[in-house]
Amino acid sequence: MKTLKFAVLPGDGIGPEVMEVTLNLLSIVGERYGFALDYTEGDVGGIGIDNHGQALPDSTLELCRNADAILFGSVGGPKWESLPPKEQPERAALLPIRKAFSLYANIRPGLLYAELNDASPLKAERIPEGIDIVCIRELTGGIYFGQPKETTTLPSGEKRAIDTMVYTTGEIERIAQVAIDTALTRGKRVCSVDKANVLETSVLWREVVTAYFKKHAPEIELSHMYVDNAAMQLARDPNQFDVLFTENMFGDILSDEMGVICGSLGMLASASLGAEKNTLDLPFGLYEPSGGTAPDIAGQGIANPCAQILSAALMLRYSFGENEAADAIEAAVRKAVTSGTRTGDIAFGLPSVGTKAMGEAVLQQLQA
Ligand code: NAD
Repeated sequence: MKTLKFAVLPGDGIGPEVMEVTLNLLSIVGERYGFALDYTEGDVGGIGIDNHGQALPDSTLELCRNADAILFGSVGGPKWESLPPKEQPERAALLPIRKAFSLYANIRPGLLYAELNDASPLKAERIPEGIDIVCIRELTGGIYFGQPKETTTLPSGEKRAIDTMVYTTGEIERIAQVAIDTALTRGKRVCSVDKANVLETSVLWREVVTAYFKKHAPEIELSHMYVDNAAMQLARDPNQFDVLFTENMFGDILSDEMGVICGSLGMLASASLGAEKNTLDLPFGLYEPSGGTAPDIAGQGIANPCAQILSAALMLRYSFGENEAADAIEAAVRKAVTSGTRTGDIAFGLPSVGTKAMGEAVLQQLQA
């Protein structure tokens, strides 16, 4: 029997609550689809700081290095908010983990079932069929990582801060390939977002993307859009996009906007794929819900586990090649939610259930 070896980093707040439900579900999915789970849990984020003095303890990094994928919860919370910004859980855990595993490709499905239209701030008539798009964001380049990145004091005493936006052809081409691979499994349309009317990096981005698609995927319909327009179009008519494809900072902002128009963060999963292959010759990746630790509801057993469950489905698909099991999980979540079992964040007047009952409803649909 195939064994899936992955690191489990539940993190803080609702992270451990939704992770527990997800792992239970995964083990039953494994029995059905013929794989066993071999996972080890590690501390990350606030609990890493509390137990080891580090948001990303060496022992956690080591167990990730010995795994084929990372299933991540979320990190942070009020307890650690008074720490200096660089030491706060999100920054001190997530950025180094992205760097350590060269997680350059962030894939975020923006999926809103038509039955959950009420969760979206958009008018229902704009999205009668719900929303179904994907955002591909470059994750290890651009202005977040470019050097120099510093604050200096000028001779006048005034301070000056610099961030550097930088991209190479190779960085653009490898993420372009991810956009192509994604589009090929969907509507075969990619909209590349840049700011080529102002930024040098965007001029290069557009040039490289155009040439790469022409050479490697002429069957894909490629369009280009300035980022300010993309932000507007996303709020006006999100389904005009199939695959939205962009660099790091623009992707940070647009994928969050996409999360908002898709309703509850409790439903949104994400995958961050690494440059290295795992022992199965598939991409190493980190899989996590799009939301945070939800301190307002943590500890109450009412968080929506679907984002974590759907993140596990992405892990099965990308890092373990278990496509059938991934499809089955995604279908079961859809059926459970659309047939009326809902946690509070997506209940809208229907009676709501807790985290565990939501997990059980997904399981029932899987076994149906
Ligand atoms: P948040 O995503 O935690 O919460 C925003 C709102 O969404 C809250 O009302 C919350 O209850 C709700 N929500 C989020 N996930 C939910 C779920 N699964 N089920 C039901 N409701 C859910 O964002 P925030 O309040 O801005 O941040 C809280 C903490 O999380 C902060 O410390 C922040 O730094 C951290 N954070 C971590 C990550 C990460 O680990 N990747 C991402 C974002 C925020």
